[in-house]
Amino acid sequence: MPVVLGLEGSANKVGAGLVRDGAVLSNPRATYVTAPGHGFAPGAAARHHRRRLPGLVAAALREAGLRAADVDAVAFTRGPGMGAPLAVVAAAARTLAQLWDRPLLGVNHCVGHIEMGRLVCGARDPLVLYVSGGNTQVIAFARRRYRILGETLDVAVGNCLDRFARALQISNDPSPGYNIEQLAKKGTKLLELPYVVKGLDVSFSGLLSHIEAVAPQLLASGEATVEDLCFSLQETVFAMLVEVTERAAAQCRSPEVLLVGGVGCNERLQEMLGAMCSARGARLCATDERFCVDNGAMIAQAGWEMLRSGQVTDIARSGVTQRYRTDEVEVTWRD
Ligand code: MG
Repeated sequence: MPVVLGLEGSANKVGAGLVRDGAVLSNPRATYVTAPGHGFAPGAAARHHRRRLPGLVAAALREAGLRAADVDAVAFTRGPGMGAPLAVVAAAARTLAQLWDRPLLGVNHCVGHIEMGRLVCGARDPLVLYVSGGNTQVIAFARRRYRILGETLDVAVGNCLDRFARALQISNDPSPGYNIEQLAKKGTKLLELPYVVKGLDVSFSGLLSHIEAVAPQLLASGEATVEDLCFSLQETVFAMLVEVTERAAAQCRSPEVLLVGGVGCNERLQEMLGAMCSARGARLCATDERFCVDNGAMIAQAGWEMLRSGQVTDIARSGVTQRYRTDEVEVTWRD
């Protein structure tokens, strides 16, 4: 019964999680939160992760009631993500693997999200909608790869929400997306915004520049409130995501749709996708913020699958990569 430690830190969250044969034993995490109006720079996020990671590894072991000697392998995020934060976490993973004399497992972050979602929801072969600050992809498994059927042509949906929050000085605590979701609940006016769907792909950059450009005037004249803007933005971008997911679900005849990534814990998106799924007779598999927001256990779980199928990472080939597409990984643990 192998125990895998997973370390994640590809963006502004850093986490250490322990998984043993499908059971999450512990999963502590810390988030680098910046002041309203500010994003996070890679160097500052990396320093945050360096400060927090040793304590998180200790907490993960303590909460699981395990000692270092009980860990059978060390998994870490190789990419995609921001270079400096990735490098800090990879250095920690290589160090622990060598100190403890255990195999190292370099995990694709996107595959981590998918494997965590499959585990938590008990989904066997779902169509996946992966939505976060760095990624927006519609994914289906075929011939040993997670194939990207559709994706954003520019910024990720979470990045669109984050940058909108920054422009409007909405708080980043606990996350910009969470605060937009709460404000949107009080919105009453639906503004027409650019809606860009091309086949199975989506685009958010034009919508983002449009809403950033018109917001000051709409707010100053009283034509719309911050709540109306949040509501309109969410309804528009989520409708785009549901449209491409439905098209892909129809093509794949998927009985299950799995929603993963940080934006996946938005309850309005879950509601909209859930309505689409029930109209199609499909099951929506969604998780809460513990598992859809970046965390160490998802990396441990994908690492556990890799270990089980003999896919171990040579330390000499364990460099991080900011660009690492979901379909580059050979999924040796599924057939
Ligand atoms: Mg992520």
